[in-house]
Amino acid sequence: MKTLLKGGRVVSGAGVRPADVLLEGERIAAVGAEMTAPGAEAVDCTGKLLFPGFIDAHTHFDLEVCGTITADDFRTGSRAALAGGTTTVVDFAAPDKGESLHSGLRRWREKAEGRCACDYGFHMTVDDWNEGISREIGEMIDLGIPTFKLYMTYPAMMLPEGEMYRALARIKEAGGLAGVHCENSALIDVLTADAKAAGRLSPASHPRTRPAALEAEAVGRLLRMAQVAGTPVVVVHLSSREGLEEVRAARRRGQRVYVETCPHYLLLEDGVYDAPDCLEAAKYVCAPPLRGREDRLALWEALQNGEIDTVATDHCSFTLAQKRAGRYDFTRIPGGLPGVEHRGALLYTCGVAEGRIRLEDMCRLLSENPAKLYGCWPRKGALTAGADADVVVFDPDRRGTVTAAGQLQNVDYTPYEGFPTRGRVERVYLRGTLAVRDGAVLPTEGRFLRRGKCVL
Ligand code: MN
Repeated sequence: MKTLLKGGRVVSGAGVRPADVLLEGERIAAVGAEMTAPGAEAVDCTGKLLFPGFIDAHTHFDLEVCGTITADDFRTGSRAALAGGTTTVVDFAAPDKGESLHSGLRRWREKAEGRCACDYGFHMTVDDWNEGISREIGEMIDLGIPTFKLYMTYPAMMLPEGEMYRALARIKEAGGLAGVHCENSALIDVLTADAKAAGRLSPASHPRTRPAALEAEAVGRLLRMAQVAGTPVVVVHLSSREGLEEVRAARRRGQRVYVETCPHYLLLEDGVYDAPDCLEAAKYVCAPPLRGREDRLALWEALQNGEIDTVATDHCSFTLAQKRAGRYDFTRIPGGLPGVEHRGALLYTCGVAEGRIRLEDMCRLLSENPAKLYGCWPRKGALTAGADADVVVFDPDRRGTVTAAGQLQNVDYTPYEGFPTRGRVERVYLRGTLAVRDGAVLPTEGRFLRRGKCVL
């Protein structure tokens, strides 16, 4: 099967240039000017932008949180991803405490296999530490899972600091990379207990019990541990200016630190938690919580400066009925927001169309950098000969509106309801197969992606 994408503008982290792209089988055969290819289906891409398939390296499909399971599983989540131009997701395999990493991986592969419509990999959550897990770190890397997730909050997930240090050191020794959720657990627990004791149980207490200073404190502590362990780390879902300052301080010391943020921290603010309707406020409960304007603007500035490496969604979706469980007790609201479907259009609209970032920045944030950071470059994240033929054909002139009614995400709301969008994902190819046509998702089969070393 051959497809020739003719007359578009090809976007990479280095720039934008007019070029044709020839897809042959599962790979990109060639990229060049005025190409002809006998026997290929020619697709007119005049006026369109061609991006390497977007990578969302932070999703949670089919995950149990607060005694309920995310609304999106690998089937619905991956179809929503494709609709938004995301051809690869990296989800989180999360073994229970006491369970081996192999067993956790097996369970997550079963959740995804035969269901996931886009390509997928896993980060491995390390929420326990012993000799066996230390050995398994190396085995996971051999299986194509070179990235690990550590938590500094959530008692069920976090490691004590000594074990965290050992985990960081072992991951480095084995050639892997750790991404870390940074929030100070002990103080959040105290602030939460105080809020409950005072009868402040509405969602408005959620951001107040998880202030930015407690994210920054944990970022700083992580980066000092990483300094002693001599290892690069990824700060995932960074939400605050103060957290960013800690990253800057570590970089000034010469440390290698990678930073991810999410669309919701760039586009939404914490005023939503004060909505008089508790269910309305519960929609936005996630951790870290949404922040104030100053934080939001600091994150945009950091995107512009290249201080933030990737934008991922932390997609973790719950229906309003699920969110409702905590409307009279904010600690029982399942935390997480849907977003995997809308990341590209939102970043184009609020970033590129509004002149905050350039097309090449968008490509770096959504495609190139996650591919390099998470060990699948240049097979993913690049429109170059030999790469997987994952292509987004993006029409920059189409206008639209984000609505829950129009989404494929398996939820009855979106935090971006009514957001006007510029640009639309028109076609998507997944390893050469047409996965989205005219905005509609076609049947495709995603494949497990073995990943290797970080090259960012
Ligand atoms: Mn997450």
